Amino acid sequence: MALKEKIYKIKRRELSAERNIRDFLKKIQDDNIRINAVLHINPDAVEQARIVDEKIKNGCAGKLAGIGFIVKSNINVKGLICNCASRTLENYRATYDASVIKKLLKEDAIVLGMANMDEFAAGGSGESSAFGITKNPAAIDRIAGGSSSGSAASVAAGFCDFALGSDTGGSIRNPASHCGVIGLKPSYGAVSRYGLIDLSMSLDVIGPLANSVEDCELIFDIIKGKDERDAVSMEWIANNDSTNHQVVIGIPEIGANKEKASSFSYENEEIWELVKQKVKLVANKNKWKIEECRLKHLDLGIQTYYPINYVEFFSGTRKFDGRKYGYKIEDSCGEEVLRRILGGREISKAEFAGKYYRRALKAKKIIEKEFEEAFEKYEVLAMPTVPRLPHKFGEQISIEDMYNYDTLTVLANLAEIPGISVPCGKINGIPVGLQILAKKGADNFLLEVAKRFE
Ligand code: GLN
Repeated sequence: MALKEKIYKIKRRELSAERNIRDFLKKIQDDNIRINAVLHINPDAVEQARIVDEKIKNGCAGKLAGIGFIVKSNINVKGLICNCASRTLENYRATYDASVIKKLLKEDAIVLGMANMDEFAAGGSGESSAFGITKNPAAIDRIAGGSSSGSAASVAAGFCDFALGSDTGGSIRNPASHCGVIGLKPSYGAVSRYGLIDLSMSLDVIGPLANSVEDCELIFDIIKGKDERDAVSMEWIANNDSTNHQVVIGIPEIGANKEKASSFSYENEEIWELVKQKVKLVANKNKWKIEECRLKHLDLGIQTYYPINYVEFFSGTRKFDGRKYGYKIEDSCGEEVLRRILGGREISKAEFAGKYYRRALKAKKIIEKEFEEAFEKYEVLAMPTVPRLPHKFGEQISIEDMYNYDTLTVLANLAEIPGISVPCGKINGIPVGLQILAKKGADNFLLEVAKRFE
C-alpha cells in the first residue's frame, strides 16, 4: 500500500497506529532470524503508537502519524543502541536524536528499530557487520549490498513503511539496487547530517529507502532543509522544475574506456542492456529525448573517492580512543575499518598529503565540473546503479572488486549531486537497479523523473 494511502487510513482510524506497528514487529520477530536486517527493536514502539492513536483521536497528529520506520545504526536515536554494527560501540546508547529523527518524530512517525549495516558504513556488501551478514530478501543466497544493508533489506522484507540509510559512495543506492527497492541519495547538504556518525564527512548524506518513489519523496520533503547544527546544510529553495516538457536524458557511452585495470569492468553488457531498454521505453512513452554522452572521468571515481574517504575516516575515528565511547577502535574493529584507519593515517602524513589527499580533492573538483557541464545539455543522466550482480555468500572477492561495486555510485557523492536507484528488472531472478542523476539541488525534479521509471 502506498504510504499516502496508509496515512490516510490511519488518520481516518480505519487502521490504528498500534496495529500498524504491531504488525511490523510481528513480521520482524518471525522473519528477521532469516534476514538479519534488524539489530535492535525499539522496546517502546507499541507504547509510542498508542500515544499517536490518542493524538489522532484528538485531531492533533502529524503528517506521518503511525508510520513505522527502521534506522541505520549510525544515526542517533535517543535511548536506542547506535553501534554502527561495530564491537567498538557495541553498547553505545544514543543520548540524543539526530536532526532527521527529530523531524520524523515531530510528524509522529515511530521508530521500529535499528538496522544492520557494514561496520561504520565502510563497505558495500553488508558482510562486514560485527553482528552477522544481512541476507538479501530478493535473492536469499546473495549479499544485500551495503553499507545500508539492513535498511534496504528491511524495506524489501516488509519490516517497515520506510527506512533511513546513509550514502557516502553509494550506500543507499547500492543495497536498494540489489534488494529491488527505491533508494534516494539527496544532494550533499540537502539533509542535515547532525547526529550521523560519519564515515567521510565531506561526502556523507542521509536519505530514505522505500517501496516507491512517491514514498521516498514524502520522507525527503520532511527531512530536507537547513539545520543550524550542520554548517553545510542547504536552505531549501522550492524549485518549480517539472517534467511537463521534453526531458533530455544522457546515457554515458560505454566502451570509451576499455582498458580497465581492475579485474571486473563496469561494462557488464547485460546490465547496461537492461538499463538502456528501460530508458528507451520511458523516453518513448513520455516523448523524451535520449542522447549518448561522454563522461571522460567515469573511471576516476574510485581512485578519487578512496583517498578522501580514508583520510576523513581516520580523522573522524580519533574520538573512539576508548575513553568516552566504547572501546579503542583499533583494538575492537574489523579488517576493513582497520585498513581504512591505517591507510588514512599513512596518507595523512605531511609528506604524502599533497600526493594523495590534495590530489584527490583536485580530481573531485574536475568531476564536479564535468557533471555541471553535462547538466547543461542533459537534465538527467541514466546508468546502472551497480555494474554487476550481487555475489553469493562465501564467494571470495578481491578488495579492488569490492571497491569497484561502487564505480557508478561514488560519482554522485564526489559531484555532490542527487541520485536515485529504481528497480529496472531482473537478471536470473536477481534485481537490477537503474540510477538516475540530476544537478545539485534538483532533488525534487529527479524524483519527478524517477516516478516515470516505476
Ligand atoms: N562502499 C563504499 C565504501 O565502502 C560506500 C560506503 C558508503 O556509501 N557508506 O566506502
